Amino acid sequence: MKLLVATHNQGKVAEFAQMLADLQIEWLGLDDVGVTADVAETGGTFRANAVLKAAWYARATGLLTLADDSGLEVDALNGEPGVLTARYGGPGLSHEDQYQLLLEKMRDVPEPERTARFRCVIALAGGDGRLLETSAGVCEGRIALAAAGAGGFGYDPIFYLPEREQTMAQVGSAVKQQISHRGQAMKALAPRLRALVEAAA
Ligand code: IMP
Repeated sequence: MKLLVATHNQGKVAEFAQMLADLQIEWLGLDDVGVTADVAETGGTFRANAVLKAAWYARATGLLTLADDSGLEVDALNGEPGVLTARYGGPGLSHEDQYQLLLEKMRDVPEPERTARFRCVIALAGGDGRLLETSAGVCEGRIALAAAGAGGFGYDPIFYLPEREQTMAQVGSAVKQQISHRGQAMKALAPRLRALVEAAA
């Protein structure tokens, strides 16, 4: 069964494929199917953006399509950056610029109040663009006092996991896949994908 992942990031496609390696799925990214257009993420929630992306790319390609939207919510900043996580600080900032900006905003916030979470919503749309399923995952942690670790991407170096006493950039990719918001959302979606694979066989 072919499954399009609505991303230009081949690393993300590989990560999803690895999580569900036992399923007979041909994983494709947007670059594999020659889609260059981008859809504006205008939704006000992670779910709205995931649904919008899945439906749009499914209609554009006629393929079963999975799209995810994710981001970071910081309690001391009233849930910011939220759906704006990818665009935090404005255009042209590197991931490091973005997390340094966040650390700066959090400079005077004491440790117990540095609670935060990564959220991910995944949407699955049929080749006709109809929404088939959504799933969600959450990973709770805290904003570290300083960046640490070289693994992962994005805000991982400042996302501290108190029970492991490490940041998400220090835990290693196998552990991250188990505990991350994306891993959780993918686990929740797995039964539906398994059923689709079996129906297509
Ligand atoms: P997207 O949903 O892949 O577009 O991600 C939105 C933003 O959230 C990106 O800019 C990332 O920096 C951040 N983000 C999403 N997932 C993670 C993660 O697992 N680690 C660190 N940052 C993440």
